[in-house]
Amino acid sequence: MSVELPEDLRVLADVPLAIDPDEVLRFQGYKKDVDVPGADVRALLDDALTLGDALMKPRAVMRWVPVQRMDAGRLAAAGVVFRIPDIEHHWGAVTHLGAAVCTIGETLERRVADLWDARELPLAMMLDSVGSGAVESLAEYVNDVLCQHGVAAAVRVTNRISPGYGAWDVADQQAFFRLVAGDAIGVTLNEACFMTPAKSITLLVGAGPAARVDHYASQCARCWMRDCAYRRAPARRTVHR
Ligand code: SF4
Repeated sequence: MSVELPEDLRVLADVPLAIDPDEVLRFQGYKKDVDVPGADVRALLDDALTLGDALMKPRAVMRWVPVQRMDAGRLAAAGVVFRIPDIEHHWGAVTHLGAAVCTIGETLERRVADLWDARELPLAMMLDSVGSGAVESLAEYVNDVLCQHGVAAAVRVTNRISPGYGAWDVADQQAFFRLVAGDAIGVTLNEACFMTPAKSITLLVGAGPAARVDHYASQCARCWMRDCAYRRAPARRTVHR
């Protein structure tokens, strides 16, 4: 069976992103459904969300590529080899990789630095968390877009993973940028594998008719695709405006 996923480099600009406030509070150390923020924290969060919304420019660049080889924790595609321990167990057999670089830009970071200089520390810290929550929400948004490509091609799409998280060595960020360079959206990578702007995320998903997705219901809970025949959980709060 041939799988038709878009293999051209695609840029998503002006993404209509909705920041998940729970993501922001997570970066403030709150545990969802356990810690309840007080009225003062809620007010600060609202101010920072309004400010952050005006300062961020969410965008992403993405690409699908066929898998050339998958064995013993190695994934080869488009001349690049990733070393991802136990990936066969987590994803099952995948025929394609979807790779993306996402960023909200650097304006928000600069405002955080200005707030630090002005000793407006509570707002500086909350705005920084808004930026972190925003780029996580953006990564979820892009994961949903990639899954919607998969639905159109009648294949299953896994949840995202990134170099530097879990057992995947951050050094693979260099190989990642050979697969999808971030320059189309203004993201660069240095030798130490730090991205600029800092509020940027790379993400990789697998796809294929036999991909393992049954343990990934959380993805559907944020996805805005109505009447999706493959939906595994009801939509709750989505990351689409
Ligand atoms: S509802 Fe679930 S299966 Fe359907 S496109 Fe969205 S994330 Fe994918």
